[in-house]
Amino acid sequence: MLTSGELKHLSTASGNGNFFVSLYLNVNSLTNPKGEYVIHFKNMLKKTTEKLNKDVMKKVKEDIEKIEASLIGNKRGFKKGLAVISSIPLGFWREYHFSLPVRNELIIDDTPYVKPLFTLLNNYPRYVVLLIDKESARIFLIHLGKIELYTEHITPDIPGRHKKGGWFALEQSRYERHIDYHISLHMKDVIKSLEELLHKESVDKIIIGGSEDAIVKIKNMLSRTILDKVISIFHPEKLSGDKDILDETLEIIRVFEREKEREIVKELITRTMKNNMAVIGLEDVLNSIQEGRVMTLIFLKDMAASGLRCIGCGFLTSQTIKTCPYCGGNFEKASYLIDLSVQKAVEQGAAIEVITDSEGLLNAGGIGAFLRF
Ligand SMILES: [Zn+2]
Repeated sequence: MLTSGELKHLSTASGNGNFFVSLYLNVNSLTNPKGEYVIHFKNMLKKTTEKLNKDVMKKVKEDIEKIEASLIGNKRGFKKGLAVISSIPLGFWREYHFSLPVRNELIIDDTPYVKPLFTLLNNYPRYVVLLIDKESARIFLIHLGKIELYTEHITPDIPGRHKKGGWFALEQSRYERHIDYHISLHMKDVIKSLEELLHKESVDKIIIGGSEDAIVKIKNMLSRTILDKVISIFHPEKLSGDKDILDETLEIIRVFEREKEREIVKELITRTMKNNMAVIGLEDVLNSIQEGRVMTLIFLKDMAASGLRCIGCGFLTSQTIKTCPYCGGNFEKASYLIDLSVQKAVEQGAAIEVITDSEGLLNAGGIGAFLRF
């Protein structure tokens, strides 16, 4: 998974005389039905080669070959966006697959080019999930639909526990204090890990799952700053059985994101009505993209449309017109208008908001945008 830690590592990597090839490529199979991205890669390579000196190109020859081979042979793992950073002399290869397209870029330099990765990391929310009971805890990081175990705490048996039956009644309270002390130590350890992760990954949304007891206890020990980041607390029946708990957690996140989506759609419609840097409806959106005005493109997950694309300037339209209003060029058929517009918007640096379900947005044509100007 792409994490801040990983990115920090990437951005401080240095070639020491060697070079890194960083490739960002839209590999969406709908807009690249015949694997056109290989051609896009080769075109970018040609342009880059023209600019760089021959010695540098010689040094990255093997990287280029490896990347090209993986583009041709590796289709199955592809989603919509692909990022590859390679430096064979340094034994360095990173590959990231994203469910969102990226802007096509090829950079050869003595450090990895990571700016688009920072954008992806910062534009899409990350969540930390803490699952805790009195003796164990697990902390997960969730980003762009992926979930990763960050750390696990299992406290060894609390000393004295198994002797319980043999203790005298008078010692019962002392025994409980003893247990309590060990639980506090465990919780302190967990909180330390949690704080480290929040600091390292600058995450601002936390979900906590655990028994009532454990949660009351840890809540008393958490700082105000952390408590303010908690968006939900839940009590799974038991903490084992990974899948069920993760499903429950993901459902909480879905509910949270739906609420956020509702707010975005509400703002979109209000601003459009006030004529305040927003548009709704496919044709207005397509025109705004053409004019480079889109800051955030917002559309329904199941939105589909077909139309035309100008051969001259790439203008997309859902209308039946003969010549392009922007350049006078001719049109060709475009089957996946939404995917094509998403790619164009991303190329302009726009953020993408996919809305799962919204009657309001459906009535507004299923698509809209916040504008830069
Ligand atoms: Zn045109």
